[in-house]
Amino acid sequence: MMTPSRYLLCALSILVALHYILSFTHQDYGRATSLATLAGSSLLTCDAEPDVFNPPVVQEYSPVNTTTPRRKANAALVMLARNSDVDEVIRSMKRLEDKFNRKFDYPWVFLNDQPFNAEFKKRTRAATNSKVSYATIPHDDWHQPVSIDEERAAIGRQKLIDDDIIYAESVPYRNMCRFNSGFFYKQEILKDFKYYWRVEPGVKYFCDIDYDPFLLMQDEGKVYGFTISMYEYESTIASLWDTTTRFMRQFPEYLVEDNALNFISDNGGETYNLCHFWSNFEIGDLDFWRGEAYNKYFEYLDETGNFYYERWGDAPVHTLGAALFARKDQIHFFEDIGYRHEPFQHCPQGNAHAKGRCECDPSDNFDYEGYSCTKKWHKSLFW
Ligand code: GDP
Ligand code: MN
Repeated sequence: MMTPSRYLLCALSILVALHYILSFTHQDYGRATSLATLAGSSLLTCDAEPDVFNPPVVQEYSPVNTTTPRRKANAALVMLARNSDVDEVIRSMKRLEDKFNRKFDYPWVFLNDQPFNAEFKKRTRAATNSKVSYATIPHDDWHQPVSIDEERAAIGRQKLIDDDIIYAESVPYRNMCRFNSGFFYKQEILKDFKYYWRVEPGVKYFCDIDYDPFLLMQDEGKVYGFTISMYEYESTIASLWDTTTRFMRQFPEYLVEDNALNFISDNGGETYNLCHFWSNFEIGDLDFWRGEAYNKYFEYLDETGNFYYERWGDAPVHTLGAALFARKDQIHFFEDIGYRHEPFQHCPQGNAHAKGRCECDPSDNFDYEGYSCTKKWHKSLFW
């Protein structure tokens, strides 16, 4: 016959057996009920105040670890910025974090010609869960070389001022363009990375990016990715094409078959049509820039001094490099990445807009405006 105490013993044994079964079969249950966990909670501490009137503390969960994909590329998000850019830097970071990086956890790398200050570091670190690092650019990678004839450079700047060209008067802007053309990929802090995503202060990302664009680059052998393309102001690059054709004649071995010459020239290379990828957004392969062809090309361009005598931009220089030394199929149009850098934006169309849950107005899209070269890019794929 079962006495009440036998009932109690039996129920207790079932409870203990259930506890052990659950501990072994359900890790979360085991963790939650382990003695070590309970010891840290007020259940097993005697000095805890009874908190009858306090609302329960809500546990905060970071989404990063739960959704980080297993396969990752060797890549970084790279931003060149000044300390004074910090507000716009944070805005760009938050937008890219929200739309992409909080799920993918790529490190941020910040570059500056001056040391970053404590406020810049504190605020950028607070804007991401991912690793953040900072580097000061070596003096000679940034500043106007002593070989530049300053008198001639001043005349060049004046000519662009007379033509009403943006940044005509600016030496720092020229430093930046030359740095982005030939030095960013050689920076010590980037030496162990293969891919980079260039981010600028104050840019917008409109759509959820649910896949890893770096892995797309890697898996499909791409070296350069863009979202917006347009025509360059001719007077800023007056002698760039002549210099480029001289280089090609001198070093024909660097030209790649199936290149994208028909994107940058409408007459088989006789003249440059001024089309360039807008380089404030770039996803690219650092090893492509580090390669012999592009580096020889950059040195050849740099020897002319025309980053200073004219105002050669890194966008046309990168574009010519990518179009001549890479195959056309190694250049990727990131049609599904909604992006704005004032005053233009690329807003994905049709299915891509729906898939990315994009917040931009699809009719506000630079691709099909007259000043865009993206139509030409599409056409060039079928030549
Ligand atoms: P724009 O996009 O051609 O109008 O030129 P920006 O003013 O946006 O400059 C391009 C990039 O270079 C941005 O990431 C800027 O933060 C950065 N930049 C421009 N000038 C300087 C400078 O003098 N020092 C540093 N550290 N960054 C600069
Ligand atoms: Mn900019």
